[in-house]
Amino acid sequence: MFLFLPILCGISHFDKEYDQTPAHNNIYCPNCHNFSVRPIKRREFFAVYWVPIVPLYWGKQLHCPICNWRQDFKNQAELDKVLTEQNNIKRN
Ligand SMILES: [Zn+2]
Repeated sequence: MFLFLPILCGISHFDKEYDQTPAHNNIYCPNCHNFSVRPIKRREFFAVYWVPIVPLYWGKQLHCPICNWRQDFKNQAELDKVLTEQNNIKRN
């Protein structure tokens, strides 16, 4: 007997806000040149039937919701460095 069971699998992801600090809103996007980038916490899983099984990515990113540009950052120090560079861009 041949039994066909389709197994639906894919990648599901969960984005959470990094924090509520107003200075972390509206960071300059180097891709689409809008001030729309925000830091997020991102988790990606390999999922079967929409059930997350295997974690593929677990980390913090800068994300632009307009053009979907992303860049990883590891810790608060790296985020602070980006924000310092941002202030230089806004002054010019
Ligand atoms: Zn962008």
